[in-house]
Amino acid sequence: MPELTIAPRGEPIGYTLGGHDNDTYLLVKSEVCEGCGLISPEKRRDAISSDVRVKKRRMDVSATYDGFTIVSTKFKGWVESHYPDGVAFQPLLSDPTFYVLSVSREIAFDSARRKTRFLNFCPVCKQYEEVIGATPGYVKATPEPFSGLYRTDIAFGSGNSKHYLVIIDPKCYLECKQEHFAGAVFHPVYKS
Ligand SMILES: [Zn+2]
Repeated sequence: MPELTIAPRGEPIGYTLGGHDNDTYLLVKSEVCEGCGLISPEKRRDAISSDVRVKKRRMDVSATYDGFTIVSTKFKGWVESHYPDGVAFQPLLSDPTFYVLSVSREIAFDSARRKTRFLNFCPVCKQYEEVIGATPGYVKATPEPFSGLYRTDIAFGSGNSKHYLVIIDPKCYLECKQEHFAGAVFHPVYKS
C-alpha cells in the first residue's frame, strides 16, 4: 500500500501495469539455493509448472500468487501490434491461451527516494528475502525515447514471489485504458 509520508511530486512520468490476482501458483518445487532455500532468480523461469491452468480465466492481465504476470491472447495481440519492443510471451504448456509476460528493457528504480527496504541478503544467490516498498513508484530517469513496456531493475515482494514492476509510458497507458483489458491495474510512477 502507498505510504502517505512519501508524497509524490509533479505529474506521473508513467504507470505501473499489473493485474488482479488469479488465484493461481505457477512455481513447482525445484532446485533451491542452499543458502536461503529460495529459488535463485535466474532459475525462476525454469521452475514454472508444466501442468498448471489459470483458475480465474476472464482477465486479460492477472497476477499469480508467486509473482508472475499472466496475459490473455487479446492482450498479447495488442502489445505485439503496438508496443512489441523488449516484450516476450511464454505460453503456459497446459493452458496455451495464457502467457507469462516478460519485459526486458530496464528502468532504474529509486529505492532511496522510495525508502524501499531490503531484508535478509543471501550471499550465495545474491538476492534479498524481502524487498518492501514499491508504490508509489519512483524512477531515477526515463529512457529517451520512452515508449511501451519496461521493467524496474529491482524485484519487489518476498520469498519466491518477488517480481519486477512493469512500467509503461503515458501514451501507452491511455491507449491501454481504452482497450479496457479486464483485470489490468495501473498505479502512477514519478521521477525522483
Ligand atoms: Zn540464496
